[in-house]
Amino acid sequence: MKLNLNIEPLSNWLTPKNQPLIIGGPCSAETEEQLLATAHLLAKTGKISVLRAGIWKPRTRPGEFEGIGSIGLEWLNRAKAETGLPITVEVANAKHVEEALKAKVDILWVGARSTVNPFTVQEIADALRGVDIPVMVKNPVNPDLQLWIGALERFNQAGITKLAAISRGFSSFEKSAFRNEPMWELTIQLMTMCPELPVICDPSHICGNRDLIPYISQKALDLEMDGLMIESHIDPSVAWTDAKQQVTPAALSDLIDNLTIRTPEP
Ligand code: PEP
Ligand code: MN
Repeated sequence: MKLNLNIEPLSNWLTPKNQPLIIGGPCSAETEEQLLATAHLLAKTGKISVLRAGIWKPRTRPGEFEGIGSIGLEWLNRAKAETGLPITVEVANAKHVEEALKAKVDILWVGARSTVNPFTVQEIADALRGVDIPVMVKNPVNPDLQLWIGALERFNQAGITKLAAISRGFSSFEKSAFRNEPMWELTIQLMTMCPELPVICDPSHICGNRDLIPYISQKALDLEMDGLMIESHIDPSVAWTDAKQQVTPAALSDLIDNLTIRTPEP
């Protein structure tokens, strides 16, 4: 079945310095110093095209760090001004959208815990009606391709044509080396149904630990995905969230150097 989405090519909304597109940055913005220091080192590698940082963090259980909040938008904008990198944050409700738009965030992403909920997706999509901004939609936590497609359709119907999907793995009861099972067949199915849809892989949340990230990154490129979103922190050992899966900017740079990039046949 062909998906009927009206999608602009990635080149309409990003001029990637490098192919594939690399989005890097910490899981969470923690302090202004941490974000700026990480951003500067990432920018210095010359290998990343977009800076990410979560400021509203969905956590599985209460009582953990739930994101630094709106002040993080100021830090992100400072990082953008100092490095020239476009910035992206996760939005999970209409208020986040309103604040992110006011702060002129370049790209929004929708997290896996939001994609599972059509009410949430619709609320975010409605808040974006008439706004020309790129949106990247992570797959839902559970392996339900229809929910992922439904979210993409809701954004497209709200007029968002700069759309991309992010493949971040799926929850499973199976004992596994991965934090989230890649279940590549679901992403491949989406890519087959809508070949024009840019697809980015998030090896960090698939792997859950940094050692597996090179392997999953290469696999994603071999499957002809358009880019990678990789969590990077100036000092992963003290990261407030997802410490085990974050890599230093230097390690991210090495990882990218060691990828085999095959240019598709013309
Ligand atoms: C994140 O990107 O930091 C995040 C919370 O991811 P996910 O929605 O994939 O769990
Ligand atoms: Mn994370």
